[in-house]
Order: sequence, then C-alpha cells, then structure tokens
Amino acid sequence: MGQDKKRHILGLSGGKDSAALAVYLKQKGLSENMEYFFLDTGCELPEVYEFLDRMEVYLDVEVKRLNSNKKFEDYLKTQVRMHQHENFLPSPFSRWCTKLMKIKPLEKFIGLDSVVSYIGIRADEKRGGYISKNTRNIQPVYPFKEDGIVREDVFRILRETVGIPSYYKWRSRSGCYFCFYQRIDEWAGLYEHHHDLFMKAMSFEKIDEATGKKYTWSEGVSLAELREKIKSGKYTPPVQKSPKDTRSWQQRVLDDYENDELDDQACWLCSL
Ligand code: SF4
Repeated sequence: MGQDKKRHILGLSGGKDSAALAVYLKQKGLSENMEYFFLDTGCELPEVYEFLDRMEVYLDVEVKRLNSNKKFEDYLKTQVRMHQHENFLPSPFSRWCTKLMKIKPLEKFIGLDSVVSYIGIRADEKRGGYISKNTRNIQPVYPFKEDGIVREDVFRILRETVGIPSYYKWRSRSGCYFCFYQRIDEWAGLYEHHHDLFMKAMSFEKIDEATGKKYTWSEGVSLAELREKIKSGKYTPPVQKSPKDTRSWQQRVLDDYENDELDDQACWLCSL
C-alpha cells in the first residue's frame, strides 16, 4: 500500500466477497494500515455480527462499526411524515434506508480525506461498486477483478480461513433482516431461523383500511399472509432438498449460482 498519504479502507458488508477480499489482501501482505469498517444499521442478522467478530480475530484489528446514531424505526416515522402516507417502507425504488443508514455514515467516516476503497467485486461479475456522488475523493480498486479471482476462489479462501457466514444456509445475501430484496423463501427462512425478527418486520407492514392498499416488504404477499401459509402447511419451498443429497450446506451454496445473480440488484454497501 506504499507510503502515500491516502487512507486505505475496506468495507465489510457481512457478505462473502468483502470478507474474502480482506482475507486475500492480508494473505498477500497488502493490509498494512487498512481501515476496516462495517455499516451497521442495527438491523443485521445475529449471524452477521458473529461473523464480524470472527473477522476481527482473523484480521487482528478492529472492524469499525459505523452507524447513523438513529434507529430504523425513527427514520421510518420521518419518512411517513415527509411522504404523508401510512407507511413509507423502503423499497428497490426508494432506498432511503441505504442513503440514510449507510451512505451518510460512510461519508462522515471518509470526510474530505483521499481514500482508496477496496471493493470485492469479482472477475466473474459485471457490476461496478457504488460511489457516492458527494465523495469524489474516493478511488475504488478491485483486486479480485485485477487478479482474476472468481466465485470458487472466494469460497475456497473463506473455507480455508474464517468459514462461510452461516446465514448462507438459508439466505443469499447479508443486509438488514427486513431487506426488501429477499425472496419469499428467504422470508420463510427468517421465520424459521429468527422468528422474533420476522414478527418485528411484520409489525412494520400496514394495510390502509379505507383503501385496502397494502404497505408490505414484498410485492404481492404480506408477511402476515406468508406466516399463515407456513403455519397451515400451505407454504412449499421452491427447492426442497432431496434426501439423497448428501452435500454439505456450504457445498450447496457454492453450487447455487443463481443466488449470486440476485446480488446484482443491490450495491456493495449492503451485500458484497
Ligand atoms: S440491506 Fe436492504 S434494507 Fe438494509 S439498507 Fe441495504 S437495501 Fe436497505
């Protein structure tokens, strides 16, 4: 990383790619003076916090938890007032959650400093990393792209060191427990693995009695409806594990290429 005055930062999202990048750079001796950070909305899965602790042990350095000092619930109230309707939940079309709870704390962390930001986009991906319009002083670098590191390499790097975050057993990405990018089967996974968080997410949904309009995390189905389906045995997971399938969950995650395509919908701040 040389003797330059620039800061070198690496954001851990709690996901596999950024974690593997941190491990990779450390193994290559390129992590001296690296500042690691995690944009903490306070709404992450317990598995993510546990994985970050493991990363800190491996990296032997603090992963700074950056937050906006305000709870999601408080932001939600503000959004409702601003938009003057019942329940302005964030959505792919209005990602105020990312802006307020991740981008702003990140901008504060960087300030006016010149930084080199290490981003875990792989050689087998097409997307670019998110760069805030207000922070032109950020120079993004993509070591995985430069070095031809692909998905299989990422899994190998993690398997050999810190392991694969355990939420990948039932969820394809890191991010808030209520993230609207989740598929229905992932919501069902949340119901199974973190019932309390499912119920909390459900409590944010509203139905306008007068108009019948639903304000839900997923289009088409409310969490209350999904819960009823699960409870009555009417919910069928899209892919059921065959009894003959003896692969470990880690191997199944590795074999499931489709899940990675979903990551294209979000940005590295939330999911890489
Ligand atoms: S993980 Fe999802 S809900 Fe959380 S800030 Fe990112 S886009 Fe918003």
